[in-house]
Amino acid sequence: MADAAKSSGFEVRKSEEEWRAELRPQEYHVLREKGTERAYTGEYDKFYPAADEGYFACRACKNPLYTAAAKFDSGCGWPAFDKCIKDSMVVEVDTSFGMKRVEIMCAKCGGHLGHVFHGEGLTPTNERHCVNSVSVKFMKGPVPSSSEEQDGEENDGETSSGPAEEVLKDSKM
Ligand SMILES: [Zn+2]
Repeated sequence: MADAAKSSGFEVRKSEEEWRAELRPQEYHVLREKGTERAYTGEYDKFYPAADEGYFACRACKNPLYTAAAKFDSGCGWPAFDKCIKDSMVVEVDTSFGMKRVEIMCAKCGGHLGHVFHGEGLTPTNERHCVNSVSVKFMKGPVPSSSEEQDGEENDGETSSGPAEEVLKDSKM
């Protein structure tokens, strides 16, 4: 993952007016204003496609983010994934709401996806990507061949913020 704070810009750059025109109000609020959809309301919260059925892409720019196989039931009220497609997203420390969390954003357009939590032991990768349904779009068919999944462990040293263990384990989203 690249460090969002150091990268000068994203490959897909649009004005806020353009994004506002392209996205539905809730999509704009989450992707561009870093909002959060209400828990248990997202269209993909309880959606579990077969592993070979498709993949999840960024709703704003169609950048492939997660395979269908990476989705798991965390019970947290938002879609959860335990690994992402390599270099598909960037991270930034988010200290809003008095919590220290690691925000994940689409590496191509900078759209807000959600947060990533480490060390919960929910799946073998020990990583939970807590993602807004409106930030992603399920795409049928195979993941584009240039995309490969990233090993969860490789991410740890690459965040600009220091060890992921500092993130509160009991914070939700
Ligand atoms: Zn994007």
